[in-house]
Amino acid sequence: MKKIAIFTMDVEDFGDTFCLQGKSEGLPSAEDGAYFFLEECEAHGAKATLFAVMEHYERDKALLQYAKMHGHHIGVHGYRHARPSEMGREAFGKELSKAKEVYREAFLEDPKFFRAPGWAIDDECLEELKEQGFLLDNSRVPHSGKYPMYVKAAPLEGYKEVSPNLHEKDGFFTLDMPSGRLLWYQQAPLGGGVLIRFASWLSVRQNLKAYLKTGKPFVFAAHPLEFSLAKLPDLRKRLNFHERYYVAARHKGYRRRLRKIFRLLKKMGYALGMYEDLLKE
Ligand SMILES: [Zn+2]
Repeated sequence: MKKIAIFTMDVEDFGDTFCLQGKSEGLPSAEDGAYFFLEECEAHGAKATLFAVMEHYERDKALLQYAKMHGHHIGVHGYRHARPSEMGREAFGKELSKAKEVYREAFLEDPKFFRAPGWAIDDECLEELKEQGFLLDNSRVPHSGKYPMYVKAAPLEGYKEVSPNLHEKDGFFTLDMPSGRLLWYQQAPLGGGVLIRFASWLSVRQNLKAYLKTGKPFVFAAHPLEFSLAKLPDLRKRLNFHERYYVAARHKGYRRRLRKIFRLLKKMGYALGMYEDLLKE
């Protein structure tokens, strides 16, 4: 089994983040974080997959077309930045059709890859993705249920595990995000998100190494705001302490951490690939 690492970004701005929805007036764009991520991927010889929120296509057009032109892939991160499993299948289906319409017009092809906002996917929404012709979903986060930000992992009824973390049903695939025992949480997400961003590097590295030793596919999932160096206005009036920390802390530190992760993957014998490389295996 080839060890494959896939680099992805959910392209959303401050205002799409759940804790800032409706409270983002006057905030700068976090787009510099996306360009930084693409440059780092290119510097390490990786092609990324960017998941776009399709209702914001016009806002993100220059970035997405730049990425496409440079050989990165574009997936769908919803029409709106809203959790699919909370909408129910019918409403999700309508949003997905709208997202596909914008995607087709923008990129002159059908989208293949999907990641759910908030990682919130269930079996019904996966069925809808399959029906609407998607090839692969990468939203499922196996975790122990102690992690309040994530919904319970979809049960995947009728799927078979074709390779580690990759499940298939009628030619449609869903790939699990990497998870491990980070901090006091049992089985927490390891490929991006709050813990990997804020836990000490010592702890992150130890857990990443344990995961990478298994040879399972590694998926890194970033957001522009995590790398953005845009200067933010005073957020004390609109956000609580945790929310402020989430949007405003450690951006330079996380840039350095990304480079360390690239180095660690190389050391552990991982090749930088894309979703298709995993399906070929
Ligand atoms: Zn998102």
